[in-house]
Amino acid sequence: MHASPAMPALFVSHGAPTLALDDSPAGRFLDALGGELPRPTALIVASAHFGARQATVGAHAQPPTVHDFHGFPPPLYALRYPAPGAPTLAAHAADLLRAAGFDTRIDAHAGIDHGVWVPLRRMYPDAEIPVVPLAVNPGADAAWHFRLGAALAPLRREGVLVIGSGGFVHNLHALDWHGRATPRWAGAFADWLDARLLAGDRAAAQDWLHQAPQPLQAHPTPEHLWPLFVAWGAGGGAARALHRSWEFGSLAMHAYAFGD
Ligand code: ZN
Repeated sequence: MHASPAMPALFVSHGAPTLALDDSPAGRFLDALGGELPRPTALIVASAHFGARQATVGAHAQPPTVHDFHGFPPPLYALRYPAPGAPTLAAHAADLLRAAGFDTRIDAHAGIDHGVWVPLRRMYPDAEIPVVPLAVNPGADAAWHFRLGAALAPLRREGVLVIGSGGFVHNLHALDWHGRATPRWAGAFADWLDARLLAGDRAAAQDWLHQAPQPLQAHPTPEHLWPLFVAWGAGGGAARALHRSWEFGSLAMHAYAFGD
């Protein structure tokens, strides 16, 4: 099946699990986002919370909703996202990844973590579009994740929406649950990366650890940044900013589109 034109690829920040229920600028942005795009045939979602050393795609026919967080309000644990899986698409994606040289694995048991289902519940509340989860590799670098996304770029012409779900600035130790003001270090990092994205300056962005201001304050560990590079690889070119907001002081909820 070939749809035209190609779907964009998206990066979204999933914030805290409370995004599933809270009214917030980021939540309202996601509520509107699904309806603004052509209806995808399927979703491939790279989540910061699904990590593996190999390029790994989930192929569960009915992936369970995983509540991979602790200490949040009970209603969050009752939420489900009953979208079907897409084992055939997962196998197709794995073929593309192998052809691009990745050591690739199909995981028939992977569920969907909150990095996947929290944004999707808001973007596509009907839960009818099949979902394939895609792992990030905490031990790899930005270039590896860009290549991972680039290998899946052909799927965009089949109506597949590739989403990277992470966090634009993500330091859980620095959160202020009553926070209003954005700390200077968080703003400086976000401004730097935003400018690289809009300029299509992938070389600088991939070298964020050396070129960005306060990189380890913004991302003490990199897994929430890797989905950004997956989306960039899938979409290519320069980014278009879709949304910018902050929660809990330093948690950046920015979102970008690539390839449209
Ligand atoms: Zn997260």
